[in-house]
Amino acid sequence: MTDNDFARFWTDIHSTFGIDSGTKIKLAAYNRTFEKVEHVPAEALKLIQSRIEDLDTLPRNLSKAILNGWYEWKSRNPDRLRAEQESGAKGGCPNCHDGYIWAKGIPFGSKLVTPNPYVFRCGHCGGGEGAIPKATREGLEAAGYIITNPAYVKEAA
Ligand SMILES: [Zn+2]
Repeated sequence: MTDNDFARFWTDIHSTFGIDSGTKIKLAAYNRTFEKVEHVPAEALKLIQSRIEDLDTLPRNLSKAILNGWYEWKSRNPDRLRAEQESGAKGGCPNCHDGYIWAKGIPFGSKLVTPNPYVFRCGHCGGGEGAIPKATREGLEAAGYIITNPAYVKEAA
């Protein structure tokens, strides 16, 4: 989505809950949230907005609520998702799958003999959530990992 799309969305949901969206603190929150959800395509915003507006209060963790709506949108639009992956459409990060990079490898200092599968938050688009390490494809490959993102597996098949 563009900054414009997000600005309209942000103003709409805040006014739904009767909150002024323009204060200084809110502007910082706006920037942080936009960074986290910029990869979500604008066409998913309608569903996401309606899900958030169904709630009793504005969620404290807005980016998480937006991503939850995005997951729901994707599960309802598998064809659109496939098209997005195949074209590497703008907005979609070509380096990860849903903000996560899947890789098989042996962590530095580990006693493992065979590579184990791991999931990292994408260091390219800043997608993904939770307390798991962030990494880039280049960094993982340099450390001997093999990228196993579902999208990449599909391309190779
Ligand atoms: Zn990414």
